[in-house]
Amino acid sequence: MPEGDAVHRTAARLRSALDGRVLTRSDFRVPRHATADLTGREVLTTLSRGKHLLTRVEGGLTVHTHLRMDGSWRIVAPGARVPPGDQVRLILANRDCTALGRKLGMVDLVRTEDEARLVGHLGPDLLGPDWDPDEAVRRLREAPDRTIGEALLDQRNLAGIGTIYRAETLFLRGIWPWRKVGEIEDLGGLVSLAQRLLAANLEHAGTVTTGDRRPSNATWVYGRAGRPCRRCGTRISRGEMGSQPQERLILWCAGCQPR
Ligand SMILES: [Zn+2]
Repeated sequence: MPEGDAVHRTAARLRSALDGRVLTRSDFRVPRHATADLTGREVLTTLSRGKHLLTRVEGGLTVHTHLRMDGSWRIVAPGARVPPGDQVRLILANRDCTALGRKLGMVDLVRTEDEARLVGHLGPDLLGPDWDPDEAVRRLREAPDRTIGEALLDQRNLAGIGTIYRAETLFLRGIWPWRKVGEIEDLGGLVSLAQRLLAANLEHAGTVTTGDRRPSNATWVYGRAGRPCRRCGTRISRGEMGSQPQERLILWCAGCQPR
């Protein structure tokens, strides 16, 4: 599942493909906006906000997309064959390139002035220009009885963390994922570490938290269930957090992250 750093990189690719260029084609393959046509409008820019993408278009419109579980934006040459099937949900093209939004979990078209309705609830964006660790901590502290694992995924507290960065950040701070928010003294240090981990992965694909880019060495606990902890040798545990149907994967080391 794409996390904040991947969404941020996607926004950068969309900016270089679309910004300042006039759309020669738009194709919304979702029932709600099937008749929308942005042809002739210039694309102003694309912003990422947490895991949301906002593509602003001339005339006060914003295309809102979300990658959800396995969505992506691919940039291809004009006239390139669009893959058959229903995987492509949105096409935005100009004279120089075509952007294909595949398997997008959300495709919406709203007035730019209404963007806040889509993303106004989000906490500070870990990769945004307005990142504010104090505000993130303040929001986390509002629910001291929640588990830290669930609170870190709640995008209303801070925006951009998914299951990988949650697991890796908690491991590096030695925090058991089910510990209550109110029991953690240095929440500021925790969110700042998460921010540094995401920022360190902005320039390349993939998630590296160990400093070692080799795929089998890139993470401490994520993707390593049953294998020995790199620090203490304890087998990495795997479980789920949260209540159905929103339970999400968590990995941890019982040695380094004791109860
Ligand atoms: Zn360990």
